[in-house]
Amino acid sequence: MILIFGPVGAGKSTQAELLVERFGYHWISTGKLFRETQDPEIIEYLKTGKLVSDEQTQRMLLAALNDIDGDKVILDGFPRNVAQAEWLLAQKYSVDLGIVIELTTEEAVKRLAGRGRDDDNESAIKERLAVYHDQVDPCIAYLAEQGIEIATVSGEGNIDEIHDQIAATLTQHNLG
Ligand code: AMP
Repeated sequence: MILIFGPVGAGKSTQAELLVERFGYHWISTGKLFRETQDPEIIEYLKTGKLVSDEQTQRMLLAALNDIDGDKVILDGFPRNVAQAEWLLAQKYSVDLGIVIELTTEEAVKRLAGRGRDDDNESAIKERLAVYHDQVDPCIAYLAEQGIEIATVSGEGNIDEIHDQIAATLTQHNLG
């Protein structure tokens, strides 16, 4: 199992989809699963950029993981905080690598202008960036402390350049 991290605008879902095509991973995006639910309470959370509860997220994630054979999976958007990371490490899946796509806040905001998704209004973007640094940064640090390999790539280039860096990292770790 591979985890992919990056602030909103870093293109983590695009990158995850490229890895699916090239290396045959299954892709699970908790954000995408939430956007597909019809649950009005969840839709409201997404609009504000706040995190959905750990319990709801974990329940939904387990159901998605159960639909997949094996553990050649890329998790996109999970774990999002230390509690979710602890929970994940207690499950039966082996976490092989975390990939962090780094992007400055200025660049993230610039890229998101005009994407047009419901949760791409300015206040939701700011909230999601704040959540990222408040909760996801410590989550990544926790995973590293627990011995999970973390690879950092720059998110500043174009899609192909970022993909090449990630693909090289996977090959290096025999995960390609
Ligand atoms: P994303 O597509 O990963 O940027 O996620 C979009 C939104 O879905 C986030 O702003 C959260 O409201 C919600 N979400 C996605 N993943 C999680 C998670 N692991 N825990 C809680 N909320 C999440």
